[in-house]
Amino acid sequence: MGSNKRKISIIGSTGSIGTQALEVIEKLKDKFEIIALAGGHNKELLQKQADKFKPKYTCLGEEGLEKICSDKENDIILVACSGKIGLRPTLTAIKNGIDIALANKETLVMAGDIVMAEAKKHGVKIIPVDSEHCAIHQCIKNIDQVEKLIITASGGPFLHKSLDDMKNATVEQALAHPRWNMGKKITVDSATLMNKGLEIIEAHHLFGFDYDKIDVVVHPQSIVHSAIEYKDGSVIAQLGLPSMHIPIQYAITYPERYEGIKSKSFSFSEIARLDFEKPDLEKFPTVKLAYEMGKLGGTATVCMNAANEEAVFAFLDGKIKLYNIYEITKKMCDEHTVIKQPTIDEIFATDKEIREKTKNYIQNL
Ligand code: MG
Repeated sequence: MGSNKRKISIIGSTGSIGTQALEVIEKLKDKFEIIALAGGHNKELLQKQADKFKPKYTCLGEEGLEKICSDKENDIILVACSGKIGLRPTLTAIKNGIDIALANKETLVMAGDIVMAEAKKHGVKIIPVDSEHCAIHQCIKNIDQVEKLIITASGGPFLHKSLDDMKNATVEQALAHPRWNMGKKITVDSATLMNKGLEIIEAHHLFGFDYDKIDVVVHPQSIVHSAIEYKDGSVIAQLGLPSMHIPIQYAITYPERYEGIKSKSFSFSEIARLDFEKPDLEKFPTVKLAYEMGKLGGTATVCMNAANEEAVFAFLDGKIKLYNIYEITKKMCDEHTVIKQPTIDEIFATDKEIREKTKNYIQNL
């Protein structure tokens, strides 16, 4: 039986992006056939998903990811897991000519140069799921005519709080994101604005723009998801209600568009106003650090990512304060000797070394 269904696998189907992707796919049943679902550790949920969506196979944990990403029956793989486990399977999928809908940040932050070079070599599309990059992807028609990228940031829960409030924030306060409902790690990153730092680095790799051609603007309503400025001064922005369903659906159905999971029509008059302001780099120095590490390139961003993630975990465990996340990350970056053009093995070795170093440092505080 021939079918025009797009064959898709989801890495990280039990996570925040993965479950929302399955909600999209449920609405577009006649458009997709699921090859494989891979979950992190939620066995029960993965089983439920398997019963409902009947993939050819499922896998739990890291094992099996290589198998999924080598399966050339896939037209596209949604890489929605968090953390570095997404990196090697993504490279495998690229080498097998399978398009990638990319929600995993580490893939580009840790190995953007390698991943984008491999994608080019194998003619593979990397379609971003992150709302900001998805917005830019939608705005760009002719990339040679684009002057700069403008990434919006909601500013997180501490946008208009004092630096002291932020320094003494509890885990609950940091997790109370005003606009987006996301996983814990990324929600803390949104509170420190490190999430924006990581997104600057991703944008650099995805679209091939120098760091001084990537701006960040705070936009608390999260309606403008990002914009680009053309050489002639025209600005094209992508707008929409803040729901991850939209960018997920765009990425997995690209270049088609369907009604899908859309629940509400967009109304300018209901939104009434859109505000923009400069990010406060004193309160959110993570953004500055990300620019610096991005410009250094190589393992600098690997170090920043690893140190930040370990510090976020320590914050979630109640071991350090919110502002310490930046201080610790900065310290690790200052002490790191950058490898300019690392191999994948060197990237993983740096990641491991920095994580151990960060954990030890936090333990001895
Ligand atoms: Mg984002």
